[in-house]
Amino acid sequence: MPGLMLIDIDRFKKANDSFGPFVCDSLLRSVAQRLRTLARDAALIARVGGGEFALIVTDASAALSRAKSLMEFLSRSYTVEGHVISVSVSIGIACAGDVCDSASELMHAASVALHRAQNGGGAAIRQFQISMLEEIKANDALEIEFRAALATLPRDLHSASGDCQFEVHYQPQVALLDGRLNGFEALVRWRRPQRGLVSPDKFIPLAEHTGLISILGDWVIAKACFDAAQWPAPRNCPTGSRVAVNISPVQLQDGAALIASIAKALRQSGLPADRLEVELTETALAADVGDTLDKIRRMGVKLALDDFGTGYSSLSRLIHFPFSSIKIDRSFIASIDCNSRDLGQQVGEKMICAIAAMGQAFGLTTVVEGIETPEQMEIARRAGCSEMQGYLVSRAVPNADIAGLIQGIEAAAATKEPCDER
Ligand code: C2E
Ligand code: CA
Ligand code: CA
Repeated sequence: MPGLMLIDIDRFKKANDSFGPFVCDSLLRSVAQRLRTLARDAALIARVGGGEFALIVTDASAALSRAKSLMEFLSRSYTVEGHVISVSVSIGIACAGDVCDSASELMHAASVALHRAQNGGGAAIRQFQISMLEEIKANDALEIEFRAALATLPRDLHSASGDCQFEVHYQPQVALLDGRLNGFEALVRWRRPQRGLVSPDKFIPLAEHTGLISILGDWVIAKACFDAAQWPAPRNCPTGSRVAVNISPVQLQDGAALIASIAKALRQSGLPADRLEVELTETALAADVGDTLDKIRRMGVKLALDDFGTGYSSLSRLIHFPFSSIKIDRSFIASIDCNSRDLGQQVGEKMICAIAAMGQAFGLTTVVEGIETPEQMEIARRAGCSEMQGYLVSRAVPNADIAGLIQGIEAAAATKEPCDER
């Protein structure tokens, strides 16, 4: 049974921008040459555009192992026009007869598989499966519904907005030393008609990918400031607790719009700037965002580095950004969840200790995420971290439940044994 392989040079456009079209035309010729050498028996080899090549193979059952050796061979560095260029390739494979009745269907199937391979960052091979088409359909439907849902966001936060499909819930962050309430993280939820609450992990990537995140993100900033300005102040903090809002890397790309959105939210809500914190992940920290972060910091707003420990940035680079706290990704504490003293557990614990020590050295607050058990809390406290967040204290709750939650956390802190103090 014949099949089609689509081979694409990952981030070819970037290479074109860096090296220029003359060098990249040579690169394409070298890639084509290698393809011809390794796939001599292919029925057809063609360039279909950009850095993408198509290969018709007569025996699709061997396509996967074939694709592996092709990927390895094509990813070796090239010397073209005096430049040494390293590229990776991704490959999508479709078999005729599987689901494809015509050449255009075969092409479409291979291109769906190729996109799937590149969506995960590239350097991957994917074979077309019918479930991929179903997922695309489901995602398209989700996008249509999400766009319609955005239209329900109220313009005015003062008026009741019964039909708004989005909600912001708040999860407390408490001091590890004495259980005192320090702040809340704002977490957005989408109440999808007939389907109930949808996790942000499902719709935030969609919102980022479609560029709609700014509309939702601006509303979350405004809503969180508006709500926080009305919360009762905890006894330990008469000026009121902090509220932390997640900011997507896409929002940070338009620094001026983000700053305007924060300034507007603070002005309209009356929330003091030092009660607002913005949470950013390492992926947001492109070279040119330093200026925006400095401006936000100068407004008096705090900055937190989210999901710390999962990225690849160097420490020396990170400490040049004006963060006041780091949030230790919950995967570290989760790895200490079992009773066994296996290597994974020890690594998680050592990482938390190391990050806590680093936080202390640089005067940063360290927040441990995902604390679910008293044992995990104890480990975080022994490690010297400052705050915790997790189901042990509370899940994220709707704004209407905040006053009761504040009372509950204060009552629990008051009953803490003096020997808990360190
Ligand atoms: P995140 O910023 O790391 O938020 C913490 C996530 O961990 C939340 O999931 C929270 O409910 C969950 N969590 C908290 N404590 C525990 C625990 O003890 N155990 C476990 N297993 N999970 C815990 P959620 O609300 O589903 O949010 C997922 C992610 O979606 C967030 O991860 C954040 O990256 C993103 N997100 C949420 N709201 C917003 C938003 O308004 N804007 C943007 N850009 N992203 C958001
Ligand atoms: Ca966060
Ligand atoms: Ca996090």
